[in-house]
Amino acid sequence: MRLYETQQRSVVPLDATPGSTVRMYVCGITPYDATHVGHAATFLAYDVLQRRLQDLGCRTRCVRNITDVDDDLLARARAMGVHYLDLAADSLAAFDADMAALGLLPADAEPRATSAMADIRRLIGRVLSSGHAYRAGDGVYFDVSAARGFGELCGLDVAAMVELARRRGGRPDDPNKRNPLDFVLWQRSAPGEPEWSSAWGLGRPGWHVECSALALAHLGETIDVHGGGSDLVFPHHECSRAQSEAATGRPFVRHWMHTSMVRHGGVKMSKSAGNLAFVADLRQRWEPMAVRLALLDAHYRADWDWTERRLVDAARRLERWRAAGRGDGALARVRERLDDDLDAPGALAAIDAAADAGEPVSDAAALLGVAL
Ligand code: ZN
Repeated sequence: MRLYETQQRSVVPLDATPGSTVRMYVCGITPYDATHVGHAATFLAYDVLQRRLQDLGCRTRCVRNITDVDDDLLARARAMGVHYLDLAADSLAAFDADMAALGLLPADAEPRATSAMADIRRLIGRVLSSGHAYRAGDGVYFDVSAARGFGELCGLDVAAMVELARRRGGRPDDPNKRNPLDFVLWQRSAPGEPEWSSAWGLGRPGWHVECSALALAHLGETIDVHGGGSDLVFPHHECSRAQSEAATGRPFVRHWMHTSMVRHGGVKMSKSAGNLAFVADLRQRWEPMAVRLALLDAHYRADWDWTERRLVDAARRLERWRAAGRGDGALARVRERLDDDLDAPGALAAIDAAADAGEPVSDAAALLGVAL
């Protein structure tokens, strides 16, 4: 199987030896809102990857974290006048229902940041003792000047990284930082925010260190596939990589896999643009398998536009496939398409062709997680 690797910027082989275990970590949700189409498309890409790896005879172990301590979550809970963990619980229940409806394989572990404080503190301690972090003000900061190859994952120059850090909550102007790209490992909580005790005072962890600690605790020091949306490459994954490797002295990830952004009305789907399409709304009006098919009909690395038209097409496609009956038509072709950088749209086209030729296609559909 071949798959694009972000750091090498090329399609490379992915080790899928039958009988081996492929350990995957996917950055999960911050539970403060409903699941939108962009989230669902990301998790669906890893779901299809897992299904093909299992089809090849591999075991998969997929960890998807829950970022339940986060600036946005805390701000939303404050604005709503509810406890942040109550907001998280409601959002997670809705997320689970959406993912189950779309037929996603359950994660093997869904660790929460709030349940991993001991792991997080231990990791920060390791980074400090390795000489890759320093204490300043009320916080602990990662020292990027001590890290080898910082910026190699995203491939951006320093000015571009500083600009992105500024836009994505990295606070490059924090006066405690020696370098604008240094990032927080531990920070004092703002008034009213949750706080935990630590050797560095009461406070809470930075965002990036939560994921590193959970990945190391659940999957070990080197992960086979690590992913998330492409907006996580910098700063989140660059920083996760730097601090994990600082702590362990070993490569953090063998294969970075990132999914594209979804547009709606020509603009990237985002809360700030106000153009989110929610899975819960769609599955009120459409069969969940049609929603899944609509999401599969876009390559995971190509930015694409969400339109309701995709659901009309998907519902029609589902009918054609059902009419073709039960059997293994197109299965070899679908496997070949998936092994070529997870070409799901190509796999759908192969099933269409087989169904049109009167071949039964239920097995090929099942490999894509589509129950006919
Ligand atoms: Zn993460």
